[in-house]
Amino acid sequence: MENLFASLPPAHYTNLMPTPLPAPYLVCASASAAALIGLDVTAISHPALLETFSGNRIPAGSTPVSAVYSGHQFGVWAGQLGDGRAITLGDAAAPGIAPGARLELQLKGAGLTPYSRMGDGRAVLRSSIREFLCSEAMAALGIPTTRALCVIGSDQIVMREQRETAAVATRMAPSFVRFGSFEHWFYNEKHDELKTLADYVIDQFYPQFKTAGNPYQALLTEVSLRTAHMIAHWQAVGFMHGVMNTDNMSILGLTLDYGPFGFMEAFNATHICNHTDQQGRYSYARQPQIGEWNCYALGQALLPLIGEVDETQAALRIYKPAYAEKFTELMRAKLGLQTQQADDGKLFDALFAVLQGSHADFTLFFRRLGAVQIDNAASWEPVRDLFIDRPAFDAWALQYGARLRLEHSDDAERQLAMHAVNPKYVLRNYLAQIAIEKAQNKDFSEVARLLQVLEKPFDEQVENEKYAALPPDWASDLEVSCSS
Ligand code: AMP
Ligand code: MG
Repeated sequence: MENLFASLPPAHYTNLMPTPLPAPYLVCASASAAALIGLDVTAISHPALLETFSGNRIPAGSTPVSAVYSGHQFGVWAGQLGDGRAITLGDAAAPGIAPGARLELQLKGAGLTPYSRMGDGRAVLRSSIREFLCSEAMAALGIPTTRALCVIGSDQIVMREQRETAAVATRMAPSFVRFGSFEHWFYNEKHDELKTLADYVIDQFYPQFKTAGNPYQALLTEVSLRTAHMIAHWQAVGFMHGVMNTDNMSILGLTLDYGPFGFMEAFNATHICNHTDQQGRYSYARQPQIGEWNCYALGQALLPLIGEVDETQAALRIYKPAYAEKFTELMRAKLGLQTQQADDGKLFDALFAVLQGSHADFTLFFRRLGAVQIDNAASWEPVRDLFIDRPAFDAWALQYGARLRLEHSDDAERQLAMHAVNPKYVLRNYLAQIAIEKAQNKDFSEVARLLQVLEKPFDEQVENEKYAALPPDWASDLEVSCSS
């Protein structure tokens, strides 16, 4: 197994072996992720692969490495971080993507590395299942993301706030290089290494820029564009990452490092899904501007290569319009609008205001809205039921109905189009929690069931109706933090 990242000079990583995981057992695996690397998912439960994805057996020819990187955490320069518990085994051929494509296989929770700092190098079962389910759910929603192949559990005890057990999640992505990987070399004033890394990324993932007038400026432009698009997708589906530190930002514009993430339920623009983020830096409403802030941090790091401040700024200027354009496009689709009208922005703002005023469930709202018939008052009732402030909703519905009539919207066509973009099923915290609690008692069936539901988020799946339900009362005090 080749490892292209390990062809970089040794300063970029440390060669090391995963720490063996005692008595490993399969918790869950994704058939669609396995298919990307041409693997039959059932093979993962065979001893040889179980041992591989636990870190107990190294594939022939593999050079396992942990990468060094730095980053800004909560807006503050944090210095060196690095893969504190992740070890990349190497590249698997990914015929499921395209002939010749490759995916890096990375074990998360595979033991201590030189970058573990105060950590133990392990990941708990709870957070591994969350990352697994969310990666696969995001992929099924069509949102750029790293993938999750499987989670392997063990009875090994790991101490967090309470005693938990260890697990290893296998992630896959073309690359796990982060904004912070570039910041690392910039802040250490190692411009040779900075260039080596940028050339590697361009060579491998953006070869079209090799012949650009300024390849590094082209790189920054493209990464800013992809980041803006990724975050527009997050906003449109109500996804909150929770820890948008620059070390968690992918150079490929993929959603990366699932920790205290959440999906918006009762709509609140200032919602903070990460219990540790007291200032609300990474609240739902701030994600778009934080995405831009992070691109600026990357721009700063690439400045020595780009050469001119003006050219760096020119690259970064793409972010705001790219975000606005993508978000508007996604909102139009969510509302089933086929034409563009000058006042659409106002319609969206008014919608967010009424959602906010009633804390209506974000996912149910769009899904139910897809089923309304413009001139059938009774068909609006299920949507209306989600609002405490009915007059406010009615006022918005009037505007929306008029907007639909303006383009002679056809109820049946619109419903099809809206149901294809507004998911019925998202990874609500309480659903993950139920699956996790069962898994902690060695019953992995609910993780598998939930994965199956989330793999087809736009399908009605009448037999799985309960997975689309509002969170139960006990879920209101579920808290997620960085402790994972
Ligand atoms: P995160 O906020 O999870 O992205 O983690 C920030 C940094 O801390 C990364 O460099 C992680 O690799 C590292 N880290 C998080 N948890 C652990 C752990 N249990 N052991 C070692 N390093 C960790
Ligand atoms: Mg991280």
